[in-house]
Amino acid sequence: MRDQFEREINYMRLSVTDRCNLRCRYCMPEDGVCKKPHEQMLNEDEMIAAVEAAASLGIEKLRITGGEPLVKRNIMSLCARAAHVPGIREVCMTTNGVLLPKLAKGLRAAGVRRVNISLDTLNPDKYAYITRMGTLDQALAGLDAALDAGFDKVKINAVLIGGFNDGEIEEMAKLTLTYPVDVRFIELMPMLDQPEFGERAFIPYTRVLETLPQAVPVRADGGVAKLYRLPGAKGNIGLISPVNAHFCAGCNRIRLTADGKLKPCLHSADEISLKGMTREAMRETMRQVIFEKPACHAELSASQRSQAGRNMNQIGG
Ligand code: SAM
Ligand code: SF4
Repeated sequence: MRDQFEREINYMRLSVTDRCNLRCRYCMPEDGVCKKPHEQMLNEDEMIAAVEAAASLGIEKLRITGGEPLVKRNIMSLCARAAHVPGIREVCMTTNGVLLPKLAKGLRAAGVRRVNISLDTLNPDKYAYITRMGTLDQALAGLDAALDAGFDKVKINAVLIGGFNDGEIEEMAKLTLTYPVDVRFIELMPMLDQPEFGERAFIPYTRVLETLPQAVPVRADGGVAKLYRLPGAKGNIGLISPVNAHFCAGCNRIRLTADGKLKPCLHSADEISLKGMTREAMRETMRQVIFEKPACHAELSASQRSQAGRNMNQIGG
């Protein structure tokens, strides 16, 4: 359906858990999540009811996210049921990839069509630093498993962090020469009070283009990324600029958190609880929330943090 500003809202990001097997420094605090009682989280039936309600309002694309979606015990069943909801044309997932060697084939069989893997660096020490507890080998094994499993598309998401991985832009972009993957560079969003990410960490997406003068523009695929390609590459380079060139005017998405909060805008604290509602009540609430989706969020910068009111692991990106 269309919102009050005539934007077609057809995409929902469903965060199935706020728990994670990593602790990326820009995403969540080291001491993890404050565990909410089980009863306060959406259960599988409620998540599926919410997907059905959303689909009946014109949501066609569903992205399963987290926290880390693959640490959720019932993830296969959730994906399989979501993929069968009438109106849902595509179920995709964003994951850190660590558990893909075990789960990639099952996910594909359950109906997940596309997978985005978060990978910010190709340096083992830096990977261990940024994730606080992961190893690069695990993430790369996850990438291999995703490529083997036959997904329609595999993408790599790298958060651009000045002073951390800005020296690796070329090396990461060159993964598109070797593998049939898109590599997307995402501007760091100021979510947490992060002393280690000062002004210098927030570099604009244009830095990627300065580093890769040989990249040529490619027609956009309907997503938020500006697309480029290296000569001879098997995949695209995507630039996602939530800070320096936000895409609110074309925003087509809503978000549902694992505790049942519907968020019409990533960077607004506005959220409406669907927990405990019937499917019909969810549908009516969603209809209103979609219609009233705000035009835009407040400015973001190193000094003006997101007003989301949650850490990214509690929203899903
Ligand atoms: N655990 C999964 C993963 O890492 O892919 C899914 C959840 S994670 C919150 C979703 C995406 O949000 C990841 O690609 C992650 O890099 C990104 N993300 C988290 N915090 C961010 C921030 N402060 N700025 C930009 N992207 C961020
Ligand atoms: Fe976990 Fe993903 Fe956040 Fe990293 S970005 S801490 S993998 S939820």
